[in-house]
Amino acid sequence: MKNIVVFLGAPGAGKGTAAAAVAARTGARHVSTGAMLRDAVARGTPAGLEAKGHMESGGLVPDEVLYRMIAELLAETPDPATLFFDGFPRNEAQAEKLEQLAAESGATVASALLLDVSREALLERLGGRRVCPKCGAGFHVKSLPPKVDGVCDACGAALVVRADDRPETIAHRLEVYESATAPVIGFYERAGKLRRVDASGSAAEVAALVEAEVSR
Ligand code: AMP
Repeated sequence: MKNIVVFLGAPGAGKGTAAAAVAARTGARHVSTGAMLRDAVARGTPAGLEAKGHMESGGLVPDEVLYRMIAELLAETPDPATLFFDGFPRNEAQAEKLEQLAAESGATVASALLLDVSREALLERLGGRRVCPKCGAGFHVKSLPPKVDGVCDACGAALVVRADDRPETIAHRLEVYESATAPVIGFYERAGKLRRVDASGSAAEVAALVEAEVSR
């Protein structure tokens, strides 16, 4: 069986950090649609060219681009597997489509974890976030600093601020989250699959709570 665990929560809630940490400990596969799209943009693929402008403004990339990526990913994933979906689905249409794509490839959405955190904490986290442009590893100047300032622990490349972590874009991403993505919470609540995780603690604390939930 291919089991999908959907990570929900506002930008900055720590979905990527928790999903990466728990995936490394449990053998699950961390699927970040944001990272896949950033890679497509960097490589200049057709999907990347379509996604670029939307991503830079903090808006959502058209659903069809995501559907192609997710269908391919599910088809190429060997059975059995546990997949942590970080960043997909991001609106109700995507949540419904995921049910169909999963069924077509013998997968099921087992649960949806909502990482709950206050707006103040989100703003602080997004402002201090740094990413590695080469390998995609994520850091934070305060809560998850790299061993050497500005340098990726994993591959040694110079860390950067994501283009969409600039203050004006952050505000827009939070609006998009409230209007488009927050309704996805109701989708999984109605399906009886929603689990809430207190994501206000440190990266290690949140990862421990997430691991406890996915191991239940
Ligand atoms: P993230 O790394 O998850 O914050 O995603 C970065 C950006 O990629 C988002 O602001 C969107 O522009 C785009 N993106 C990622 N996942 C999706 C999705 N499921 N639907 C639409 N756009 C997405």
